[in-house]
Amino acid sequence: MSPSANKVLIVEDSRAINEMLVHSIVTQLHIDVESARSMKEAREIVRSQKDSFFVSILDINLPDAPNGEIVDYILEQNIPPIILTGNISDDIHDEMMEKPIIDYVVKRNLNEVIYIIDTIRRLRDNINRKILVVDDSRSSRRLITSLLNRHYFNVTAVSNAADALKLLDEHDDFTMVITDYNMPNMNGMELVAKIREKYSRNELSIIGISASGTGTISIRLLKSGANDFIARPFMHEEFYCRVNQNIDAVINYRKLKHAADRDFLTDLFNRKYLFNTGQKLFENAKRHNFQLTVAMLDIDYFKKINDTYGHHIGDMALKHIASLLSMQLRETDIIARIGGEEFCLLCVNTGSDTTEALLERYRSTIEDNPLITDDFNISISISIGYTTKAESSLEQMINDADSALYKAKESGRNRVVAFSEQ
Ligand code: GH3
Ligand code: MG
Ligand code: MG
Repeated sequence: MSPSANKVLIVEDSRAINEMLVHSIVTQLHIDVESARSMKEAREIVRSQKDSFFVSILDINLPDAPNGEIVDYILEQNIPPIILTGNISDDIHDEMMEKPIIDYVVKRNLNEVIYIIDTIRRLRDNINRKILVVDDSRSSRRLITSLLNRHYFNVTAVSNAADALKLLDEHDDFTMVITDYNMPNMNGMELVAKIREKYSRNELSIIGISASGTGTISIRLLKSGANDFIARPFMHEEFYCRVNQNIDAVINYRKLKHAADRDFLTDLFNRKYLFNTGQKLFENAKRHNFQLTVAMLDIDYFKKINDTYGHHIGDMALKHIASLLSMQLRETDIIARIGGEEFCLLCVNTGSDTTEALLERYRSTIEDNPLITDDFNISISISIGYTTKAESSLEQMINDADSALYKAKESGRNRVVAFSEQ
């Protein structure tokens, strides 16, 4: 998909369906749409807006093109189509499915509109979904790659399991692996088992492919950790259904995991995540003799912001602070919102910085970047208490940081104070 191809073309003579599609795509997906009610209108739009469309929705029964003539014309323009038809004839279905189309949808009721909107959202999002194809046969690699490319997936194809494992070792952002079974050196089943040492079924979906009639291969692939299996030769429609369902499962898992680990308002990690991950960090630091810093950060006079400007601006201030704090984070640091306007930061070693200098940077960033809204310019400050003294538990270190925070508040706020025993 070229960056300029960001619109949807609708060609549908029924005014009701046409308008419903335009409305849904614009309001739900915020994607621009051009709509035509005949083949003639469609030609004019495509001619005047070349390379603007990444997908089209085509009624194959138009007043000036009653037999699907629009499909070949739009395919010549390289705009992949979703076919819309009132006809459930198998012959037409089969004829259309032989063409490089996205999907074939029979108009029956509102559900089909929902399905189409869902398909378009998918195509848009697929650009960011990486799929790894592993197959020793060049023609098979090409076929699978071109099917996936048609749906705008980000595809990498390799000819053997070793290359696949190397890629998965270097990149942890693949959503799916589609692997052949019969390959020299390492077969698909061995590859799946190897991948599962690093990625769970929830994190990375694997679809195995092999010739049909090969008996127990599908079972063996599934038992070694594949999420699904496709037998060759397959219908393109089945291929897409399985790919989409398995992609959805991974995406849904990621969403659930994100929701479980994060604070809803600020998107920082939540208290539960901090304690779980912090515990591992604490034990690791102890075992390897790393220095762990635990810092508590608390917004100064936050109640006053709520009282003066309202709760809504208070929420904006929390998000503002959270994003400023996140920008300072280094890869190994963890920050969480653990109370209303209270944050906890865990850092392993502080590199070339002293802990004091690092936390001073957090403090001054907040002081130097007021929250600017349409009506107000609100200065905010935070107080920070921290400790680097190893204690017997993470909880105790948090308590120490908290008592340092109390001192920071008492001695005037907007400052960084280290824990000390007295
Ligand atoms: P100090 O400098 O001593 O920390 O004073 P403070 O006003 O920041 O502290 P206090 O604990 O008295 O008040 C915290 C306020 O934070 C009270 C509560 O209404 C507000 N608060 C907690 N959670 C939220 C939230 O999610 N949104 C908004 N807008 N306010 C919140
Ligand atoms: Mg093979
Ligand atoms: Mg406060």
